[in-house]
Amino acid sequence: MSKQSRRFQVPDALANLYDFANTLDVRHFTHHGVPHRQDDELTSADDLAAWMAQRKLARPAAKITPAMFEAALGLRASLRDYLQHDPAERRSRCATRALNAAIASFPLRAELGDEAGVALRPTRDDALAGLSAVAAELYDGARDGSLDRLKMCAAEECRRVFFDRSKPATRRWCMSNLCGNRIKTRAYRERQRGRK
Ligand SMILES: [Zn+2]
Repeated sequence: MSKQSRRFQVPDALANLYDFANTLDVRHFTHHGVPHRQDDELTSADDLAAWMAQRKLARPAAKITPAMFEAALGLRASLRDYLQHDPAERRSRCATRALNAAIASFPLRAELGDEAGVALRPTRDDALAGLSAVAAELYDGARDGSLDRLKMCAAEECRRVFFDRSKPATRRWCMSNLCGNRIKTRAYRERQRGRK
């Protein structure tokens, strides 16, 4: 878990998934006159190693090869594509094909004896093994339904992944008072313009 996942009250059981999807920040809106700067926390294999070590998913200075780095970026891209779908559409093969192909590189095995009785552990035993936690969180989240609350903000200039804590689980924007308002104001202006 991280400061971000804590701040936005993301369940610990989905924190790696949430943080990993948000390592790519494509927000490009202007808030209070300040343009948001886009960012990517994973621009190199070393970045990935540091990110994983910070979350105790790898030993410090673990050697991530270029092929491992590519596999990680492939996982992130397909994960973000998947989360972009409305939860109701996520059961289709079209929504899951790329993600299923990406998580095939992160196989898991069941291990008894965890405090929950059983846990999914990585089958890989290399420097990338820890990233299998993302695949395990996908599995657990899909099983208990919490994955449906992990969504991507509907605002094109935001695309932040957020956890929807609303009771009906119908939120579309990461922050209604920011992204939601911006979209509504724009739609209103466009309607007004259309009337002239
Ligand atoms: Zn947003």
